[in-house]
Amino acid sequence: MTEREKVIVVGAGPVGSLAALYAANRGHNVEIYELRSDLRDPSTTPLNFTRSINLALSERGINAMRHAGQPKLIDHVMGATIPMRGRMIHGRRPNGELYEEAQDYDVHGRSILAIDRGGLNKRLLDILEEMPNVTFFFNHKLVGADFRRNKAWFEVKKGTDKTHEIEVDFDLMIGADGAHSAVRYHMMKFTRMNYQQEYIDTLWCEFQIPPRDGPGSKSMISPNHLHIWPGHDFMFIAIPSEDGSFTCTLFAPAAYFEQLEADSTRIPAFFDKHFPGVTGLISPPDLVSSFHQNPHLPLISIKCQPYHFSSSAVILGDAAHAMVPFYGQGMNAGLEDVRILFSVLDKHARIAIEAGSQSILVSQRELALAEYTAVRTPDAHAINELALQNYTEMRASVLSPVYRMRKSLEEW
Ligand code: FAD
Repeated sequence: MTEREKVIVVGAGPVGSLAALYAANRGHNVEIYELRSDLRDPSTTPLNFTRSINLALSERGINAMRHAGQPKLIDHVMGATIPMRGRMIHGRRPNGELYEEAQDYDVHGRSILAIDRGGLNKRLLDILEEMPNVTFFFNHKLVGADFRRNKAWFEVKKGTDKTHEIEVDFDLMIGADGAHSAVRYHMMKFTRMNYQQEYIDTLWCEFQIPPRDGPGSKSMISPNHLHIWPGHDFMFIAIPSEDGSFTCTLFAPAAYFEQLEADSTRIPAFFDKHFPGVTGLISPPDLVSSFHQNPHLPLISIKCQPYHFSSSAVILGDAAHAMVPFYGQGMNAGLEDVRILFSVLDKHARIAIEAGSQSILVSQRELALAEYTAVRTPDAHAINELALQNYTEMRASVLSPVYRMRKSLEEW
């Protein structure tokens, strides 16, 4: 795309916001349509059904932000993250003693970073807000699209329940509206999209380990590790936050959740048995109340193909390849989608410029989107598979050989 075109982005999550930034940096008229109200407004209820508060950010995602042409973004990312140089595996030895075992991620000492998802998303929105060619439309839900006529329809929410519909036209629509994507749903009516989804038999629920002596004080466990309590069929993990606390997640088959829901007095004993040491970090009443108050959420894995239709639409991030979180790559891969999409668009825009022809711009964009699908599909499918496989690694294979042998003898 060379001349100023109208790019509409559906979804102002991390991936949609980064895509909007890339498009705005190229001089296009960018409009961002988001179902919810502005996340920076304190009265906005955080949407909690697809994501966790703290995420692991890796080079894949950082590199995509580095290429956004906004040094302010990278400064924020580097300033607001906590390096995690490895896993810390927690367990109990056969003699009953608790142990911690550090497993570094990299022989050269490189780390992945813990980042607050909301903080990153807000920073992206702040940067976009300063750009004259970007307009936000919050409380706008995509309800229909015609990708041949380049028209979309949004339901606009005003006040508590009043709604009306608007029609919007566009040159390119970027769908970054998450796992239950409306853009993908409407795109399916225009292209022969293969689609596969799977809910794994695991639910997740969040807990908090508080800092030792209130916010900002020392943390109770190493702040530079991703902590794992492997439980064989389930696991508990903890990711550090800037204030010394940890956001923790219990992953377990639905049947375990049902048992604990039926009798919550068993929760502390369940933790003592399977996640040794956790009741020393989170008090039993807090464990019980978090289990009750926080939602018990499913995990979905989605593969589809193609990611585009003609020259008018493309889907990115969870909309294209929602994955289970065990490889810590869902958001990272979505951010990488943005970098790859724009590198392909730039390449084809250069071809149009070199040909000296504005008229081939649209056909070059169609070629670019087709190339994007071709390049991205095998990689996205591969990371999706790796994420599924890594659940076994995290909840069981990280255990010491002695533990594994004892466990298999018990099972035998
Ligand atoms: P989303 O974050 O889902 O954003 C989509 C946006 O679109 C939302 O704001 C939504 O309101 C909006 N929207 C939806 N429908 C419409 C509509 N019809 N019209 C307009 N707007 C709409 N990833 C990592 O990289 N590292 C991790 O460590 C990690 N840990 C995770 C842990 C858990 C427990 C889970 C569940 C996920 C984890 N992920 C992780 C994955 C990560 O959260 C997602 O991949 C990431 O949030 C996807 O971003 P997105 O912008 O594509 O979609």
